[in-house]
Amino acid sequence: MNQYDLAIIGAGPAGMAAAIMAVAHGAKTCIIDEQPAPGGQIYRALQQCDKQRGEILGNDYLHGRSLIENLTTLDADKLFGASVWRIDTSGEITYSREGNAQQITAKHIIIASGALERACPLPGWTLPGVMTVGAAQILMKSSGLFTVNAVLAGSGPLLYTVAAQLLNAGCPPRAIIDTQQLKNYFSAATHPNAAFSNVATLNKGIRYLRQIKKAGVPFYSGATQLHIKGDPEVEVISFQCRGKSHHIETSNVLLHQGVVPNTQLTRSLRLQHQWNNQQRCFHPTTDPWGIASSENISIAGDGRSIGGAINAEAEGSLVALGALEKLNLLTVAHRNKQAKSYKKTLKKEAGLRRFLDALYPVPTELIDPADSTIVCRCEEVTAGDIRSLVPAGCTGPNQTKAFSRCGMGPCQGRFCGLIVTEILAAANQLTPDQVGAYRIRSPIKPVTLAELASLATTDTADSP
Ligand SMILES: Cc1cc2nc3c(=O)[nH]c(=O)nc-3n(C[C@H](O)[C@H](O)[C@H](O)COP(=O)(O)OP(=O)(O)OC[C@H]3O[C@@H](n4cnc5c(N)ncnc54)[C@H](O)[C@@H]3O)c2cc1C
Repeated sequence: MNQYDLAIIGAGPAGMAAAIMAVAHGAKTCIIDEQPAPGGQIYRALQQCDKQRGEILGNDYLHGRSLIENLTTLDADKLFGASVWRIDTSGEITYSREGNAQQITAKHIIIASGALERACPLPGWTLPGVMTVGAAQILMKSSGLFTVNAVLAGSGPLLYTVAAQLLNAGCPPRAIIDTQQLKNYFSAATHPNAAFSNVATLNKGIRYLRQIKKAGVPFYSGATQLHIKGDPEVEVISFQCRGKSHHIETSNVLLHQGVVPNTQLTRSLRLQHQWNNQQRCFHPTTDPWGIASSENISIAGDGRSIGGAINAEAEGSLVALGALEKLNLLTVAHRNKQAKSYKKTLKKEAGLRRFLDALYPVPTELIDPADSTIVCRCEEVTAGDIRSLVPAGCTGPNQTKAFSRCGMGPCQGRFCGLIVTEILAAANQLTPDQVGAYRIRSPIKPVTLAELASLATTDTADSP
């Protein structure tokens, strides 16, 4: 079993920046990612991107090039195509790669596992032909496939980014149904300083909206009561906008309502988490250096709290400095000195995030779905099913598993977890923190018997 000073899970901007910082200070480092190459969500498949695809995906995407180049030449072990399915607080990491399970140990672990798109439980969201905008973007980045004639529905920066990328690719969306309400602009206006601290990002958003308007893509703002219908696949999306009912025929719907921290690994470690009422999600509790409630585990990037790619990169460096000090590879004075410029970036990005959180709150319809709407898509459990469990004594997400199999499918509650918490909190008149979240157990990813057996073979081979 290979042993390291530092193991980093996730090779997005946070994980890559952390690895670069760790190696610069002499830490024996390993970085692991289930993707075949570094980049994370934002810089996915950047190494295989040609000029044309680069022009379609834009400068924010190409920005990751130097980070990836630095990682590629780094004197660290890089395990790509390696999916981590168990971590122990002792520092043991178990992952599967090419059909074999393997283990490494590290004195300190940085979890930089990023974000997931928030699930959008609305009527018809499980029909074939419905994806998230992030899924459509993964197809663009990794395979050069562009969704044609798509209706984009929801809100948030990624929705407009993907709309602009589809336009650049010559695949204009059929329509954009924006669920953002006018009142959100007033809430966001209470954070003017936060907004103006990062004018370049604001201008980018305005540019995307202008591009969409100029291209003549029908844009419905303030939409409510979204409903997708079709049999056996999507045929129409209906909604209310400014007092009128609308129906758009389509075979492709792309949904989006922001991203939330991917807490599967941090939950499986039984680390402390807390509810963020503005972003309506749980995130792990950490100290200012990203150190979690178990002191040999740190967390960086969107998996710690949603902050965006620039934030993730700066945080990766900062959290690595904190870990290096814990490993006695850096003095407190050196750590603090080097942290200054990253702290400055983080302060600027935090300001922008407050503004964006106020501008794009999660719509009530998603937090409180209609009884007939499927919430757990793996086991087809509806919001009404979950509410009906409450009088029978179901107070938290873990009981829903026993009562209904909710959260017991292959995704292990990754998608439905937050909404199950919200529904139970409302029904039991408790806060999400009081209701809690699914108890996540390893393996956090589906593992085959052959993979488990390969672990036993390794053990036997190593034993005297
Ligand atoms: C689908 C999607 C698309 C996005 N597109 C954009 C965009 O175009 N522009 C933008 O500004 N922001 C985008 N974002 C937001 C963006 O992800 C972040 O702001 C930024 O990438 C966060 O960086 P990070 O390093 O924290 O995490 P990420 O970049 O998400 O990197 C996390 C990495 O951890 C790996 N990982 C997770 N769990 C495991 C495991 N168990 N085993 C092994 N590896 C694991 C993942 O494969 C991933 O590569 C997107 C988010 C999502 C979910």
